[in-house]
Amino acid sequence: MSEELKEKLFDKKENGWLSVNEEEKKNIFDFSKGYMAFLNQAKTEREFIKMARKMADQNGYKDIMEFDTLKPGDKIYFVNRNKSMYLAMIGTENIERGLHIIGSHVDSPRLDLKPNPLYEDTEMAYFNTHYYGGIKKYQWTTIPLSIHGTIVKTNGEKIDICIGEDENDPIFTITDLLPHLAQEQMEKKLKNGISGEDLNLLVGSIPYGEKGKDQVKLNILNILHEKYGIIEADLTSSEIELVPAFRARSLGFDESMVAAYGQDDKVCAYTSLVAMMELENVKNTAVCILSDKEEIGSMGNTGMESHMFDFFISEVLNKLGVNKPNLLDKVFCFSKMLSSDVDAGFDPIYASVSDTTNAGFLGKGISLNKYTGARGKSGASDANAEYVAWVRNVLEKNDIQYQIAELGKVDIGGGGTIAYIIANKGADVIDCGVPVLSMHAPYEVTSKYDIYSAYKTYKAFWNE
Ligand code: MN
Ligand code: MN
Repeated sequence: MSEELKEKLFDKKENGWLSVNEEEKKNIFDFSKGYMAFLNQAKTEREFIKMARKMADQNGYKDIMEFDTLKPGDKIYFVNRNKSMYLAMIGTENIERGLHIIGSHVDSPRLDLKPNPLYEDTEMAYFNTHYYGGIKKYQWTTIPLSIHGTIVKTNGEKIDICIGEDENDPIFTITDLLPHLAQEQMEKKLKNGISGEDLNLLVGSIPYGEKGKDQVKLNILNILHEKYGIIEADLTSSEIELVPAFRARSLGFDESMVAAYGQDDKVCAYTSLVAMMELENVKNTAVCILSDKEEIGSMGNTGMESHMFDFFISEVLNKLGVNKPNLLDKVFCFSKMLSSDVDAGFDPIYASVSDTTNAGFLGKGISLNKYTGARGKSGASDANAEYVAWVRNVLEKNDIQYQIAELGKVDIGGGGTIAYIIANKGADVIDCGVPVLSMHAPYEVTSKYDIYSAYKTYKAFWNE
């Protein structure tokens, strides 16, 4: 009796793998293979945007600047300073009825080089770094790191570098103290065990020619000069990032999970990008945002707080020939958005930080966060019940398993995404992404089931 009633009334939240047949399992695994291959070539925001642009070009998308006028079915994009990108497919519906936006970010926590990175200390050469985003510093020592980035010379010449990804490349690392001499260090609080200023990358140890001061530094500069034609000052106009040299791999005997760097938020960026490439025609104009600088507060002209996105939508309105005063505001007010960013996956080892009835679990499908924020929802964009119901309906109609969660127990911590930025413009927004273990660590873990579920969700949302 009560079993029947439970079946009818309870929100079941079952393990998604239980309802996956062999064919679907193959689809899930194949999709993840593509995702992992993409991740291996897109570890930084610039690399992601470069790959995304290539994918868009191959799928008939064109730079909006190539269009004088737009019509339903047109596929466009705008690349903002090689670090963020907006894509759109023009819908058949009057654009005044609003956009369907999916927005993720393609930057991930990492170590950036300081403007004057290279120095020598006791005949060892180092790069000085300044970490980017919320990292646990101790996790970034004694792992293989690769160097990715762009150096721009005063004549405008750009040099892209990527060292440490190829099997034959050298890698780099940040050293840590041996336990034998770490007594004092080990007494420190975990967050103070490694200081930000000590995150110095070891890059060489052979002196150039004869004895003397800074000969190892000189040797490194000479190598860089021979290889890239740069001098020390050119490093001041560069953006060079250190990321883990690990490759994305399947995790577990059952290969059910993906371990990789930068899944926050490239897992949502990739799944939404692929979903957009597969759209055939849409009712509401579909917009895909791949933003930058989310991990440090979305500021600057490649971050979501900038007006670059408004500019893009205004260009769409201009080229549709419909623009008029305040139309941009109106379009946003009638828009719907999935802020596609990762969720904290429930980790049984650290269960105490989560409320298990309100946590996102690996393998249970796409995770929706009605609100984020911290301490009394402070700073949250809280999705309206009407909109949550609309999104649930889309998911249920399309037979997509989902979970509605929040980030950790009350007052334990919190987080934020780009949701509030678009919500502040008037759109209905909910956070909606893949649960991740070890978020912001050099190696993050996701479930292949959830990755595929995200892809299906984003496609269903745009096709609605
Ligand atoms: Mn994120
Ligand atoms: Mn993050």
